[in-house]
Amino acid sequence: MSTATTPLRIGFGHDIHALVPDRELWLGGVRLPFELGLKGHSDADALLHAVMDALLGAAALGDIGMLFPDTDPAYRGISSMSLLGRVMERISAAGFRVVNIDTMIHCERPKIAPHRDAIRDALAAGLKIDRARVSVKAGTNEGFDAVGERRAIACRAVVLLESTEEG
Ligand code: MG
Repeated sequence: MSTATTPLRIGFGHDIHALVPDRELWLGGVRLPFELGLKGHSDADALLHAVMDALLGAAALGDIGMLFPDTDPAYRGISSMSLLGRVMERISAAGFRVVNIDTMIHCERPKIAPHRDAIRDALAAGLKIDRARVSVKAGTNEGFDAVGERRAIACRAVVLLESTEEG
């Protein structure tokens, strides 16, 4: 059975970035008003990075470190939403589309709830699916580890792909 004719494929992604001063905070393609931002080579959108790795994982196409190495100056400061567009081109070329996605943002602050629907809308647009198929959840780490100490934000995503080929 070829990869493309496997009807359903699941993928998982995880990412964590440090919270630092003098950076914008981008999560899921949305800029959140906050005094700190995520440190990284691109815009450091940890949620989109987790989403892209989940997509690539589901299609067994590697990971974003392989596709967009942080040693390449071409990706310095780049919008992760534009990288998601390139990942979606690869997913589509491999014969898949997204069924649904479930995500989790782990942070003590800022509060995610006021921005949840904006993030869902941005993800839905990037993934070319309806908002009803996009879940964005959030929780704190109860003071544990770097996330709990407000030094980082971590994100996780699982995605389901289906084959676009007639079965
Ligand atoms: Mg990252």
